[in-house]
Amino acid sequence: MRTHNLGYPRIGSQRELKKACEAYWAGKITASQLMLTGQKIRKQNWQLQQTAGIDLIPCNDFSFYDQVLDTSLMVGAIPERYHALLQEKQVPEIDLLFAMARGYQKEGYDLTAMEMTKWFDTNYHYIVPEFAANQHFSLLSHKVINEFIEAKQNGIAAKPVLLGPVSFLLLGKEKETGFHRLDLIDRLLPVYFEVLKRLDDINAHYIQFDEPCLALNLNDKERKVITDTYQKIKKQFPHLHLILASYFECYGENLSTVLQLPVNTLHLDLVRCPSQIDDIFASGLLNDKLNLSLGLVDGRNIWKNDFAQSLELISKANTKVPADRLWVAPSCSLLHSPCDLDLETNDDALKPEIKQWMAFAKQKIDEVVTLKRLAVESDNDALQQKLQDNTAALKARKTSLVIHNKKVKQRVAAITEEDANRENEFATRKLKQRAALNLPMFATTTIGSFPQTTEVRNWRANFKKGIISNQHYNDLLKQETEKAIRWQESIGMDVLVHGEFERNDMVEYFGEQLDGFAFTKNGWVQSYGSRCVKPPVIYGDVSRPFAMTVKWSAYAQSLTEKWVKGMLTGPVTILQWSFVRNDQPRSETCTQIALAIRDEVVDLENSGIRIIQIDEPAIREGLPLRKENWQEYLHWAVRAFRIAASGVQDETQIHTHMCYSEFNDIIENIAAMDADVITIECSRSQMELLDAFADFKYPNEIGPGVYDIHSPRVPSKKEMTDLLKKAKAVIPAEQLWVNPDCGLKTRHWEETQKALIEMVAAAQEMRLQI
Ligand code: GLN
Ligand code: ZN
Repeated sequence: MRTHNLGYPRIGSQRELKKACEAYWAGKITASQLMLTGQKIRKQNWQLQQTAGIDLIPCNDFSFYDQVLDTSLMVGAIPERYHALLQEKQVPEIDLLFAMARGYQKEGYDLTAMEMTKWFDTNYHYIVPEFAANQHFSLLSHKVINEFIEAKQNGIAAKPVLLGPVSFLLLGKEKETGFHRLDLIDRLLPVYFEVLKRLDDINAHYIQFDEPCLALNLNDKERKVITDTYQKIKKQFPHLHLILASYFECYGENLSTVLQLPVNTLHLDLVRCPSQIDDIFASGLLNDKLNLSLGLVDGRNIWKNDFAQSLELISKANTKVPADRLWVAPSCSLLHSPCDLDLETNDDALKPEIKQWMAFAKQKIDEVVTLKRLAVESDNDALQQKLQDNTAALKARKTSLVIHNKKVKQRVAAITEEDANRENEFATRKLKQRAALNLPMFATTTIGSFPQTTEVRNWRANFKKGIISNQHYNDLLKQETEKAIRWQESIGMDVLVHGEFERNDMVEYFGEQLDGFAFTKNGWVQSYGSRCVKPPVIYGDVSRPFAMTVKWSAYAQSLTEKWVKGMLTGPVTILQWSFVRNDQPRSETCTQIALAIRDEVVDLENSGIRIIQIDEPAIREGLPLRKENWQEYLHWAVRAFRIAASGVQDETQIHTHMCYSEFNDIIENIAAMDADVITIECSRSQMELLDAFADFKYPNEIGPGVYDIHSPRVPSKKEMTDLLKKAKAVIPAEQLWVNPDCGLKTRHWEETQKALIEMVAAAQEMRLQI
């Protein structure tokens, strides 16, 4: 039996990569200093895995930005607009890489960045490859070859990791019409062959091909390309050991294709899909040479592995596959795990009782090795002790009072149909709300946050460091809030917001006040490029000991005669952007959060807030990878929102907000959320996203974003009236609101003020036209 790893976090345990990249971009360090940081991180990661006893250690899992972008560079898929950088300027590879990732705006060039999108259902973002009809590929970047050599110099016979050619094409986009990107496979494969040839020449033996597209619903043509591709690779390189890896889901209807590929080792994500061993045995397609890589240790979460359970899966696999054909592995690359739990040394921040249930990448590597040893060395006392400790820790988790809160469980069990329904249907509520709120047509509002200036962030930092007192901090926030209210009044905004100055982050702010959440000091995970996130940890039953936002909303409302909108983050988004406990279904945890938010909604109403927004930007990204699982998810996600929203009277208006999303295939579910008003990001799609609502005859009110908040550019009144006219052409005017695309926290006041003045003027003009 062997151990291997699919990939290790590349950011460094102290976020060295982030710091070095940002210093390089700021011109504070040279390219060779940046390269040195990369080398150091790789060396540390390799040594750590070697010391832990991993048999096959990956290389080329490191990247200065993103592994998909690295692949574009490897195969020379450089979009036209960057060619000048190569030809005229002859920039080094690292500058080309960053130009493609971030754009290049200097020395007379103005090159836009490539698009970025989410990597499957993770919070990692990759750079989307761009393909032209006459796309040409040729070996450009030798990164994988260099990293293999570098590993060798460090005494490691590494396993190069390549993004497989089929996933690479499928993850990309055609930039012209008239062809399908998958048709490029015959032009692409020769470059992969050349890479393999070079790796072969320097004695690489094991090659890991990541083909995560196999976690998706593929069609016959796509499956055929997979089969042809791996047959060709094997034919060309019969002696190379090919490892095929997909993760995040079952192979599903792709399983029989995959089992008939001429690869040597097949990786299974047994965390997401533990039934795969049974499915493989039942298929009758398992040949007697194929190795199985058992992905037992969760690469997507921070919980300790359940050794007893994993050993059972190993035994099950072992009933039909001999031990020398079984490998033990994490479920996917550990890219999605934070680096090292040992760095969480502050017992007040992360209580030892909770920490004992957790494992980060470094600990997961140990788990992989321990699992293998437990499976093959039965009479080792030290190992048996580890198994007992693991069992004891997990047993403690089952009954721990910090996790289990009887009241919360009882409350969830007692939820009725009524709890998930407003008192009356929207048609009735609409009339009551019109009478109660007295808002004009094309009512203007914003999405919640106003600029988080350096000043505001410094106040919070100083407050946290104890440099300024709670009282002083609160006074400063109050002044800032009052300024925001006065200013909104002065420009004639209809529904005001308090500005969210007191919030660090829209999930963290709530997590910090809810029971059942813990926070790490160093639990960073790469989100994109140099950007890392530190998700909260939901370890226990969630409840709300005290009101969380009432003080700020009520204060803001007390300052003005206009309506101030209360501002909350919804249950699905809180769930989606956290590490979630794995000892109960996600739906259960989501429902608990929904009840906590419901309490807050009711408290806001009781304190005189009549309009309450429950943000759910993450609804769409929570969709399972396979369509057959969508309805189950949407059912509980929508229900959670409804539970959160339904504790108020008909007169109270519930808003929700979603950032850029496709709505076509989920519009029914969005409508089922039954928010009185939904605001969506729309301006960059020129209102096209509204079509889904129009086609569905969406009955509730909608605020399509009329300007892009991602850029400092100030839109003109005319641009916005043009967009509103487009909106009015498909959605009845009395259903429309006027608002920006999203919150304004990343903007400066200067452009925010100018833009919102124009926006209010645009709404006023629209009213004149009715
Ligand atoms: N209310 C939040 C804000 O305005 C919403 C942010 C979001 O949609 N991501 O910042
Ligand atoms: Zn948004």
